[in-house]
Amino acid sequence: MKLDEISVRQIKGVSAPKEQELHAFGVHSVADLLDYFPFRYEDYRIRGLAEAKDGEKVTIQGKIMSAATLQRYGKGKSRLSCKVAVDNLLVTAVWFNRHYLQEQLAAGREIVLTGKWEQRRLQMTVSESEFPDRGAVRSGSVQPVYSVGGSITQTWMRKTIHQALLQYGPMIEEILPLELVDKHLLMPRRDAIRCIHNPGDTDEGQAARRRLVYEELFLFQLKLQAYRSLTRNRMDGIAHVVDAESIRSFVKTLPFELTDSQKKVVNEILIDMRQSYCMNRLLQGDVGSGKTVVAAIALFAAYKAGHQGALMVPTEILADQHMRSLQKVFEGVGLEVGLLTGSMTERRRRDVLAGLQMGLIDVIVGTHAIIQEGVNFRSLGLVVTDEQHRFGVNQRSVLRRKGLNPDVLTMTATPIPRTLAITAFGDMDVSTLRERPQGRKAIQTYWVKHNMLERVLGFIRREVDLGRQAYFICPLIEESEKLDVQNAIDMHVQLMQAFPDLKVGLLHGRLSAAEKDEVMRSFADNEAQVLVATTVVEVGVDVPNATLMIVMDAERFGLSQLHQLRGRVGRGGHQSYCVLIADPKSEVGRERMKVMTETDDGFEVSRRDLELRGPGDFFGTKQSGVPDFKLADMSSDFAVLEEARDDAADLTHRENFWTEPALARLHDRLKSDQLFSGDLLD
Ligand code: ADP
Ligand code: MG
Repeated sequence: MKLDEISVRQIKGVSAPKEQELHAFGVHSVADLLDYFPFRYEDYRIRGLAEAKDGEKVTIQGKIMSAATLQRYGKGKSRLSCKVAVDNLLVTAVWFNRHYLQEQLAAGREIVLTGKWEQRRLQMTVSESEFPDRGAVRSGSVQPVYSVGGSITQTWMRKTIHQALLQYGPMIEEILPLELVDKHLLMPRRDAIRCIHNPGDTDEGQAARRRLVYEELFLFQLKLQAYRSLTRNRMDGIAHVVDAESIRSFVKTLPFELTDSQKKVVNEILIDMRQSYCMNRLLQGDVGSGKTVVAAIALFAAYKAGHQGALMVPTEILADQHMRSLQKVFEGVGLEVGLLTGSMTERRRRDVLAGLQMGLIDVIVGTHAIIQEGVNFRSLGLVVTDEQHRFGVNQRSVLRRKGLNPDVLTMTATPIPRTLAITAFGDMDVSTLRERPQGRKAIQTYWVKHNMLERVLGFIRREVDLGRQAYFICPLIEESEKLDVQNAIDMHVQLMQAFPDLKVGLLHGRLSAAEKDEVMRSFADNEAQVLVATTVVEVGVDVPNATLMIVMDAERFGLSQLHQLRGRVGRGGHQSYCVLIADPKSEVGRERMKVMTETDDGFEVSRRDLELRGPGDFFGTKQSGVPDFKLADMSSDFAVLEEARDDAADLTHRENFWTEPALARLHDRLKSDQLFSGDLLD
């Protein structure tokens, strides 16, 4: 019998109703219970009062010197107190609402008190007390604190886990390969489990935690890596047949030379596309690093191989922009580009759907509408998603369920620190665009207070006189779309008054798709010199002639959002500027402005962002794909995560990974995690 096959009912003291309640905590088997780790510890070690600091929670032992006095006041409330001699001091111990203790507090009796120490009054507000003559259980020890509820109390949980360890502790088996236990000098699993529940001495507790954190991160990484090696071996994808020569001559038609970074990344992608496994690659590159053209080359390769391609983007504005730039890029090569968005008329939609089904459309650009019900492809070979973090994580499995198994390229402009990338995307291969196209000047960033608005307007005038254009971004206020729009509308009026001779565009979420298109088009064509906008322009918008980005109330934006906004300028050869208007009251707000003025490197920005926010917050919520770990803490266990990833990669790359008997327990674990059921990680 293995511990995960033995019901918790087998533990002495677990009744049927208690078993039911444990289910609510995800605890079914003995193994589950032993893996139910405390989330913190209470220190009940007895200390001398000399060590105790004012306001601190401490445990002390002494002798009761006087009978207890009880005061009652209103609604069953009470205050019980007595004098206790501790280390030659006479301490007043006070209990609130525990009148029932009065009889036990007999003068002359030894007592152990835990509670908040008030130095000045020599008084303790007692939270827990025990008597050594009745066998003090807690005192002198560090006790685990579990997440409990219902009729399951802390004491019951402690007792039951203690009992489980007595009955089944010896049956706990090692699951990590011994070579890894040796390599990292890890505590054996049996000892670590025992220890995490009874951390007698802190060094041992640390070692136990280190071992279990490693195990957790290693198993997580192993799952991702094993999944990756399985998909690599599955060979049920499309092997795109495309010769280097046709790619080369297509690249020659582009108006610029590819950067070395772009060439390298294109090669990585083409190698994947030629294989019959499914490409699952993340392309990360700072804003303006030229990801779109990389996508275009990959789409061209799919087309040359006789398949269709799709480019998914988060907004209709972007869909429209990409559609137009792809049409331009593909003009001479006879490749048909279609557009599919939610706001299209039913008739046009029907035409596009028919075109896709019959293969008349080679590349479809659109929002998530592309992968909805009723959209059928003749042969979908490649899906590119742009600005991935705006998409849900399970898009890929939607495609799989349609019986499509295209190569997938995910592009993101939010450079992710390596450690977080391997946490969230450990199942992906990562390509990185490190350099920006030549001749780009660093964007100069300034932080000014609101009272400088006049001078900022002067700045707009100067750039427009030079033939350039400016964005003026207004923030989202408390997610209220109404206020948000109002803000932009007010600013629009103000700017039109300031610049009566210029055309000032206005872009916000309330406009219809057609209106948005028209506003963007007139800005792209330099009919409008200034564009007032909400954050709809945040991702992807590309107007190379715009050189000035002004962000109002910049403290309301997060760092990566500010960096994205700034990335809307500096996209041509002209010197560009970003002006952040903010009077931040908070430390974090000021720190953000500082980061923005100090660097325009997206990797550095996200590193500083991570420092400021902490990794828990970094990705936002579920979308990120960063799981909730039981023990591991992403802010302090980075190094372990990297080790775990390397170890897992090393193991899964071995020829005999799936057949090696020494790894049988890992195989079991992967199977019970349903690694083989298909879309687990999508
Ligand atoms: P992003 O990575 O932010 O999506 P884009 O793909 O929109 O960046 O490219 C930014 C701008 O740089 C575009 O105007 C594009 O035409 C241009 N560009 C891309 N690659 C190069 C290159 N190798 N040399 C010069 N300009 C380039
Ligand atoms: Mg882009």
